[in-house]
Amino acid sequence: MHEASLAFHLVELVQETLARHGLRRALALHVEVGALAMVDPQALALAFASAKQDTPCAQAQLQLTFCPAQTTCPHCQTLVHIQHRTEACPSCGLYDGWPCVGDSLLLKTLEAD
Ligand SMILES: [Zn+2]
Repeated sequence: MHEASLAFHLVELVQETLARHGLRRALALHVEVGALAMVDPQALALAFASAKQDTPCAQAQLQLTFCPAQTTCPHCQTLVHIQHRTEACPSCGLYDGWPCVGDSLLLKTLEAD
């Protein structure tokens, strides 16, 4: 389960962050999910609900926002928003396995006390 390991990793990351800043518990996590991250938000929410038990994240709300994947076409330098890795550039029509943002999960902000 991809989402289960992501949720576990998220809880670990929050615990490290809390420890580093001398905080006790997390109240809310704002997580940005890239369009190419292949994450099912419902599955992630469920996995997080189970992963956070008996951790400093137990009370934390998980807020997900989606960000589109975008990249600069290596052929014509157009900035394009893409939904799939295999998508062609809308400007020049070339296909490429280009590097892009929007293929990951990012912990944007953490509320804690
Ligand atoms: Zn192009």
